[in-house]
Amino acid sequence: MSVTGKTAIVTGSNSGIGLGIARELAKAGANVVLNSFTERDEDHALAAEIAKEHRVTARYIKADMSEPGQCRALVETAGACDILVNNAGIQHVAPIDEFPQEKWNAIIAINLTSAFHTTAAALPMMRDAGWGRVINIASAHGLRASPYKSAYVAAKHGIVGMTKVVALETAQEPITANAICPGYVLTPLVEEQIPDTMKEYDMSRDQVIRDVMLKRQPSKEFATVEQLGGTALYLCSDAAAQVTGTTLSLDGGWTAM
Ligand code: NAD
Repeated sequence: MSVTGKTAIVTGSNSGIGLGIARELAKAGANVVLNSFTERDEDHALAAEIAKEHRVTARYIKADMSEPGQCRALVETAGACDILVNNAGIQHVAPIDEFPQEKWNAIIAINLTSAFHTTAAALPMMRDAGWGRVINIASAHGLRASPYKSAYVAAKHGIVGMTKVVALETAQEPITANAICPGYVLTPLVEEQIPDTMKEYDMSRDQVIRDVMLKRQPSKEFATVEQLGGTALYLCSDAAAQVTGTTLSLDGGWTAM
């Protein structure tokens, strides 16, 4: 099964990992739906650029993944969904007794609950089409914890659990559900944290990357958005037809420890 002509919806895909996955799927021939909560010319320009470069249909649809109705509307507006990549995510770091309630609610809503709504809306379309792939972008934090990341770790463990349930509910259909668990990936989100961390620890850029960010990543290398896109493509391939309800780690050995 090739992804040519399939429709892929990637949530949170106007930057970083989501954009990287959308590009890889488009390169392989999938029509892609980009999404975020903004409505800017550059969002639509990104979709136009992907469409032109890979000769596929690419659209940008604004939908705020913290709003249940907008999660479902994204799928309905797209009109088809063979491949659903639940990727939108945010982070906030604070001790649990100081963790702002609104940050907890936003992280759970965007990183976990949105995937419940998009999956519920997309499964009937996959069933009608007779094929489907649900790909949830979890994290090494879906399998391991770190201090100060209560909401993020809870949401990522939650999405790993939900992935298994979707896999069981679709086990006898040509639909699979899996979670990709990246370690650190050098996206704009991570890049932005480097200058502050350099100041905080009085370290060079290289020291921050190696000794702070990649401390728990034994390979001492970031995973790349292209590797994540390649993994999503693998999950769409015939070779992965029996791969369901599991996690695929791209974490340079983090969760081997
Ligand atoms: P990013 O900030 O570059 O991308 C996040 C995307 O989500 C953006 O497109 C943003 O616009 C979108 N988004 C945020 N809030 C949204 C909302 N309310 N509605 C719709 N879209 C929204 O970050 P990233 O590093 O590419 O992260 C993407 C996913 O990968 C997240 O789920 C993150 O938890 C996960 N992840 C990232 C890393 C990493 O090291 N970068 C590691 C493991 C997992």
